[in-house]
Amino acid sequence: MATREHLEKWVAYAKQHGSIIFFDAAYEAFITDPAIPHSIYEIPGARDCAIEFRSFSKNAGFTGTRCALTVVPKGLKGKAADGSEVEIWPLWNRRQSTKFNGVSYIVQRGAEAVYSAEGQAQTKALISFYMENAKIIREQLTSVGLEVHGGINAPYVWLKTPDNLSSWDFFDKLLVNCNVVGTPGSGFGAAGEGYFRISAFNSRDNVNEAMARITAKFKQ
Ligand SMILES: *Cc1c(COP(=O)(O)O)cnc(C)c1O
Repeated sequence: MATREHLEKWVAYAKQHGSIIFFDAAYEAFITDPAIPHSIYEIPGARDCAIEFRSFSKNAGFTGTRCALTVVPKGLKGKAADGSEVEIWPLWNRRQSTKFNGVSYIVQRGAEAVYSAEGQAQTKALISFYMENAKIIREQLTSVGLEVHGGINAPYVWLKTPDNLSSWDFFDKLLVNCNVVGTPGSGFGAAGEGYFRISAFNSRDNVNEAMARITAKFKQ
């Protein structure tokens, strides 16, 4: 959900320093704001400095079936140890075709179906269902005074842990008092400490039940 301006800065940086951006677009289907790019290649110049990862795991519930794709633009170059320019695509193709025998046929047919009219309608409906979950989570947590971020253009809601608890102390508290689990922010790096991530990927009943337990506990 990085903004266009933000991505433009990254592309300019990569070009200036001869870096390659690895752009993970796993959640692009959850973007609803028309101003937010769905692909790094919407930024002029990105074709020369970016590789993009795409997956069916989150837009179509393929998690575990191992089907994804990587865009390596022809002409994209990196530098060898001696400073000479090397084209990336042939290296990637060599690596991929040597180490990987391909996605199973049945999973490929499933992925193909994502692009049919029926598949598009089904995945869109599922994504709106999850985004409605995110809205419920955001509103419920806010109603008991918790500070929340996200859950817009993305299927995760982040909360600032109350009373300056560490991410893991909050995890324990939530587990023991509410029997609810989430993801400690510190697992994503030092900047995530003091934050906690709640996923919107669940049934409506489970979301409502988890929110009822959390709000009962945190209501003053
Ligand atoms: C789920 C996820 C992916 C997708 O990975 P797959 O190996 O295709 O299942 C990629 N990036 C992020 C950040 C994810 O959460």
